[in-house]
Amino acid sequence: MKRDYEYIVLGLGGWGGAAAYWLSRRAGGEVLGLEQFEIAHVRGESQDHSRIIRLSYHTPDYVELARHAYIAWHELERDAKEPLVLKTGGLDFAKRGSAVPLANYSGSMDAAGVPYEHLDAAEIRRRWPQFTVTDDIHGLYQPESGIAMAERGNAAHVRMARAHGATLRDQAPVERLRPVEGEVEVTAGGVTYRCRKLVIAAGAWSNSALADFGLHLPLRVTKEQVTYFGTPHQPEFQPDRFPIWIWMDDPCFYGFPAFGEAGPKAGQDGGGQETTAESRSFEPDQAALARVVKFLETYIPKALGPIIYTKTCLYTLTPDRDFVLDTLPAHPNVAVGIGGGHGYKFASLIGRILSELAIDGRTERNIEPFRIDREMLQLANPPANYLV
Ligand SMILES: Cc1cc2nc3c(=O)[nH]c(=O)nc-3n(C[C@H](O)[C@H](O)[C@H](O)COP(=O)(O)OP(=O)(O)OC[C@H]3O[C@@H](n4cnc5c(N)ncnc54)[C@H](O)[C@@H]3O)c2cc1C
Repeated sequence: MKRDYEYIVLGLGGWGGAAAYWLSRRAGGEVLGLEQFEIAHVRGESQDHSRIIRLSYHTPDYVELARHAYIAWHELERDAKEPLVLKTGGLDFAKRGSAVPLANYSGSMDAAGVPYEHLDAAEIRRRWPQFTVTDDIHGLYQPESGIAMAERGNAAHVRMARAHGATLRDQAPVERLRPVEGEVEVTAGGVTYRCRKLVIAAGAWSNSALADFGLHLPLRVTKEQVTYFGTPHQPEFQPDRFPIWIWMDDPCFYGFPAFGEAGPKAGQDGGGQETTAESRSFEPDQAALARVVKFLETYIPKALGPIIYTKTCLYTLTPDRDFVLDTLPAHPNVAVGIGGGHGYKFASLIGRILSELAIDGRTERNIEPFRIDREMLQLANPPANYLV
């Protein structure tokens, strides 16, 4: 069995699977991916039919990154020969003076030259009568927004990484990482491998992996959830008639047209209880569900119907909600990516960036805001702001 690899990826969730894929395009059989559970397990952050993808973001840097996210997905779609992004258009809406100012989003899109429309309540109701918005509500519509097909995207990364020669092992928990002579020894499932470059994409388990390099980040893991509703108004919630949407306030809600299940999906962004990857339960939080139902009753009542199911999932939050995407200062041969609870849309691009950090030691994308040594991540008790 081959034990020496140029590149090892720790964690094969959304980001790690993508890293293995992009590494394999350039390094084929020199890539080993290690996943502690089965591949496509539901204990992490990346599982479900859909995740929102959008250009509409709160800073011009994210808008620019999102542009490249679409390009990376498109390259994977061409390679895998299947569609992985479904454009539905996207509506960001809120009352005027909301906690998440729409002006940050329109300003960032203006700065990046991304077209969008500013809609008043009457226009929102005219286009989508499913939204029962009052006249004090306004919105931004961006036509490129839509669905990143998470389950299919993850499967495509894994399948195509293998097609390009990578070895991906499941049930291979990495127990120990040891820097040796500029390389890294990786012990997983009792087997010790060695690599020149290591990529860590461990999601909610990131601090366990980083501990072997003497690092600990102020990450907060929360249990979040989404619910599918069996609306009796199915035709009105098909992706060609209903956009993805985000309610830009505190609390923040978001939702999808029917995709993957027989009804639309909705959730609250960041309303979940703190937990750990090891101690979390899979039980839905009924209070959180009640908040989503109440929101839908007010603004999208026709979406409601019998609950198909509620599915729980983890967020790994940095205090500023920005990603970590960097090499370790004392170990430049180790790259790390952590998603901040809004990272799926970028998965393929992040995989590409992590592969570039590993192979070239640099990337053309601007990852400066995501430095692991940024001040916010050095504080013992950093002030947190999850509303972006
Ligand atoms: C409910 C919910 C809704 C979301 N909605 C959106 C959205 O609409 N749009 C969006 O862009 N993002 C969204 N996100 C965020 C996005 O899904 C995550 O940012 C992204 O999936 C993070 O992927 P990851 O690879 O970092 O984590 P994971 O997918 O959890 O992958 C980490 C992997 O590492 C493995 N691992 C960890 N430690 C070890 C070890 N020692 N050995 C081996 N393997 C190990 C784990 O088992 C896991 O498979 C949402 C998240 C949730 C929970």
